Amino acid sequence: CGIVGYVGPRGSVEVLLGGLKRLEYRGYDSAGVAVIDDQGALGTRKHAGKLRVLTDDLGATALADGGTGIGHTRWATHGGPTDENAHPHLGDGGQLALIHNGIIENFAPLKEELVARGHEFHSETDSEVAALLVGEAYRETGDLTAAMLHVVQRLEGAFTLLAVHAGQPGVVVGARRNSPLVIGLGDGENFLGSDVAAFVEHTHRAMEIGQDQLVTIRPDSVEVVGFDGVAVTPKTFEVDWDA
Ligand code: GLU
Repeated sequence: CGIVGYVGPRGSVEVLLGGLKRLEYRGYDSAGVAVIDDQGALGTRKHAGKLRVLTDDLGATALADGGTGIGHTRWATHGGPTDENAHPHLGDGGQLALIHNGIIENFAPLKEELVARGHEFHSETDSEVAALLVGEAYRETGDLTAAMLHVVQRLEGAFTLLAVHAGQPGVVVGARRNSPLVIGLGDGENFLGSDVAAFVEHTHRAMEIGQDQLVTIRPDSVEVVGFDGVAVTPKTFEVDWDA
């Protein structure tokens, strides 16, 4: 339902929780984050219930933090609101984390295919197929952008996807089809959000991502390509909003 991504010099947990808080108005039943710490290890925390449950848990036991992360609030469509079904979902043996807004219509045949290849599922969501497929593609390509580009071709329905991989700290990759995603441009840091509320606290400079486009953000760069792999020059705009 709500999505936020961050790369930059700050602790990502705080930035992600702030963004999720601002997206709360959309309604949700679960919340979660994944961050890559300074040692390049991926950590996730996710819970059914209000953002408060997640925040309290992170307050009690901190997640080793770094400047790369993704955060999600879920409005369940496939599988009830449980901790297991909350996002992020993992791939590549726990090295990759992925969050999803929307519905992957063809998840059933993809799931069968993954099970046949020996994958285990830890949730009842449609989203987990994307995490496992991007994980497999990362093993082939060693690059998160290439892996996402490969997988989005196979997905039908509506999706905003964000992913991080422990092998690539300082990188968040996002993709969208029939579901919104916006880039927030900072100074030595960049953001992704399902809407500008996710980052308006930090920057009012934003970029649109068009239908069937994929974006790779790093602290100092933003690259957008179509699902056909062709580079796109996105339009920059000022967010008219008093944060
Ligand atoms: N279909 C996904 C799920 O049920 C994502 C729902 C959402 O957009 O929050 O987990």
